[in-house]
Amino acid sequence: MSKMAACIFCKIIKGDIPAFKLFESEKVLAFLDIQPLSRGHALVIPKHHGVKLTDIPDDSLVEILSVAKKIAKASGAENYNILQNNGRLAHQEVDHVHFHFIPKPNQTEGLGVGWPAG
Ligand code: ADP
Repeated sequence: MSKMAACIFCKIIKGDIPAFKLFESEKVLAFLDIQPLSRGHALVIPKHHGVKLTDIPDDSLVEILSVAKKIAKASGAENYNILQNNGRLAHQEVDHVHFHFIPKPNQTEGLGVGWPAG
């Protein structure tokens, strides 16, 4: 099986496994993280399969940030992190580029526990 065929985020893009989608365009998909670090934790990904930031075309990266901005606005969060991990030592677990949008509701909820991982 090719890496792309095995990729869990490519399966979400194809609709082979379910996700709670927030936004979709020709190049970008955003959906809720299955193990949220806080309420509203979302992932924004390119439809183009690539493992690291350097694998992704610039136009997709530009749109991803624009989508992250839309989600941040729509969420109403005043405090949030946008994070993107590259490589195991940087805590990347899923080998398809993804940007985390992680609202930080207050000091005791959300990012205080578990982020950055390790
Ligand atoms: P980390 O687990 O250290 O945050 P990544 O930056 O690679 O590593 O993040 C992968 C993210 O993908 C995790 O937050 C995980 O909960 C999320 N995830 C994994 N599988 C799914 C899925 N099927 N649907 C939604 N989110 C998923």
